[in-house]
Amino acid sequence: MGSTQEQQMSTVLESIAEHGLDHEVLETEAMAKRFPQYRLEDGDAVVLDRRAGFIRPELTIQTAARRAEQLGAVIHRYTTVREIVPLANGVEIRTDAGSDRFDTAVVTPGPWVNDLLPELPWEVDVRRLISAWFVSTTGVWFGEERPAFIRTSPTQCYGLPSPDGISVKLGLSQALHKLAGDPNQLDRTVQPEELEVYRDLIGRYLPDLHPEPIRLSVYMEGYTKSSRPLVGPLPGTGNENVILLAGFSGYGFKLSPAYGDIAADLALNGSSAQPIDFISTADRTAA
Ligand SMILES: Cc1cc2nc3c(=O)[nH]c(=O)nc-3n(C[C@H](O)[C@H](O)[C@H](O)COP(=O)(O)OP(=O)(O)OC[C@H]3O[C@@H](n4cnc5c(N)ncnc54)[C@H](O)[C@@H]3O)c2cc1C
Repeated sequence: MGSTQEQQMSTVLESIAEHGLDHEVLETEAMAKRFPQYRLEDGDAVVLDRRAGFIRPELTIQTAARRAEQLGAVIHRYTTVREIVPLANGVEIRTDAGSDRFDTAVVTPGPWVNDLLPELPWEVDVRRLISAWFVSTTGVWFGEERPAFIRTSPTQCYGLPSPDGISVKLGLSQALHKLAGDPNQLDRTVQPEELEVYRDLIGRYLPDLHPEPIRLSVYMEGYTKSSRPLVGPLPGTGNENVILLAGFSGYGFKLSPAYGDIAADLALNGSSAQPIDFISTADRTAA
């Protein structure tokens, strides 16, 4: 292993030890036998997280929305919020359908954060993410064990066998996502040259995958410079009636139940028992 890889490996192992994670360190030969879909290079080291899994985001969101409605929430679907106006004793939400007053608003506009809150004092970069799906030529990805993977070096990327049992989804790290500009004008066309990085990865590390994608999708995400999200009261409003959660920097989904709890506590009690100082908007000078 090179020194950077050794450093990365020791950080990973320290974190595993600190959190008592159920894991295996796999040597090259064991890896080739057990997971032949990956080609390793000299210096690569592999850690298997035995309890890792994946989330079905669409099903998760629809289930959460349905549950919220069962508990009394009212969802205004396909309704764009045009303005959020903090008031002395509440907040007004303006939409094309009219306006409503509430005690508190939790605002989670994702990549539209700069659009909805142009006065935001922190920079949130909106980046364009391409997800690409490739066919497994031998089906080797769909054995009994189907772990998702993250490669940290030299090109940071991730992937997972799709539940459809046919394709493998690949994604890239933040550094490889271009700035998106206006989120309402996102360029959803993938140019052939944008696929080169995937072809390189497949040629070098994932030999079983056919190098031409069968599906491409373009998404957006908001990134802060520190990769730490912005969580807490919106500054400059003179009150704490607007709670912002934004800039999740590629890591918002897996932690959404925890962020939901934090948002509810901030909205209802003005504080959270969770250790949120490192992501808090209070006294935050830089994103
Ligand atoms: C391809 C891809 C892969 C990812 N993989 C992972 C992963 O493996 N693990 C992980 O933890 N995270 C992952 N993420 C990141 C995760 O999806 C985000 O961090 C998370 O969804 C952010 O949640 P959010 O609620 O802030 O924003 P979003 O999920 O973007 O939701 C914002 C919502 O607000 C709505 N909205 C915006 N403006 C308005 C307005 N004016 N009026 C009304 N509605 C509005 C939007 O329509 C949208 O529905 C991934 C993201 C992408 C794009």
